[in-house]
Amino acid sequence: MSRTVAFIGLGHMGGPMAANLVKAGHRVRGYDLVVTPGPGLEPAASAADAVADADADVVISMLPAGRHVLGLYDEILPAARPGTLFVDCSTIDVADARTAHERAAAAGMRALDAPVSGGVVGAEAAGLTFMAGGGEEEFAEALPLLEVMGRKAVHCGGAGAGQAAKICNNMILGVSMIAVSEAFVLGESLGLSHQSLYDVASAASGQCWALSVNCPVPGPVPASPANRDYRPGFAASLMAKDLGLAANAVRAAGVNAELGLRAAELYAVYAERVGAAEDFSGIVRTIRDQNEEQS
Ligand code: NAD
Repeated sequence: MSRTVAFIGLGHMGGPMAANLVKAGHRVRGYDLVVTPGPGLEPAASAADAVADADADVVISMLPAGRHVLGLYDEILPAARPGTLFVDCSTIDVADARTAHERAAAAGMRALDAPVSGGVVGAEAAGLTFMAGGGEEEFAEALPLLEVMGRKAVHCGGAGAGQAAKICNNMILGVSMIAVSEAFVLGESLGLSHQSLYDVASAASGQCWALSVNCPVPGPVPASPANRDYRPGFAASLMAKDLGLAANAVRAAGVNAELGLRAAELYAVYAERVGAAEDFSGIVRTIRDQNEEQS
């Protein structure tokens, strides 16, 4: 069934996601503060215009942070038709996501938080994974659209559960990348070759995505960013952002997660230096440099 979609936020992720909806035959009205809508999208004069004029029955947003999403909702909720489904795919604070759900409900709308993993490559190839929070019915209604933009969608629970799943997953990833990097640096100082450590750990209990897919040292995994001077991949700045969101949630929930908090600190320092220019696995060089400074 063809839907009328208002798509707000056409940056690195939103642009190709909206393009895939157009390719699948949906009518898409696009709006971005900076980016001009791509081919096939109907340009809107404002976010409210994208929602109101097109009589959109679904609004998808892909914005930088929670404050942008809440600002957008305040602007467009009054312009939307009651019952419109708001699907926010941005990565934002769990608390902000829950607020967005509440504001949508108070305005007579329905909402889903549906952040993604898979990066720009996944957005372009319609290979994203969506993790969704909200009602069963809302998830079922959004699913055909999510399936056009991705290859997997998991309903994780009620409001905010998609964001919770996203930051918990990325907390595992951030901590495990630091652990794998420290192990390689320790191995170096013990005279152990990268290949030997890789051959053992990737076939033993140290096996994880950070090692076997995104290996932080050049050599063992030819496709990993380490072999192209750490060009992303998954940018260090995005990992720092997601770990910051995880740290907010850890503190808000009063949970003891020492490694998650420490990973957020280490990635914040590292990302301040390299920004989006380096893959997050490049943190191995910082760990090695610090090790050499100390010795
Ligand atoms: P981006 O900066 O490229 O795009 C965001 C866009 O939102 C920009 O073009 C900006 O002009 C627009 N925007 C901001 N406020 C707006 C408003 N009020 N109305 C209309 N447009 C507005 O960022 P991105 O890389 O596309 O990431 C978007 C979201 O996806 C972020 O939350 C990010 O954490 C998440 N994410 C990104 C990646 C990735 O690899 N880039 C991977 C997974 C998740």
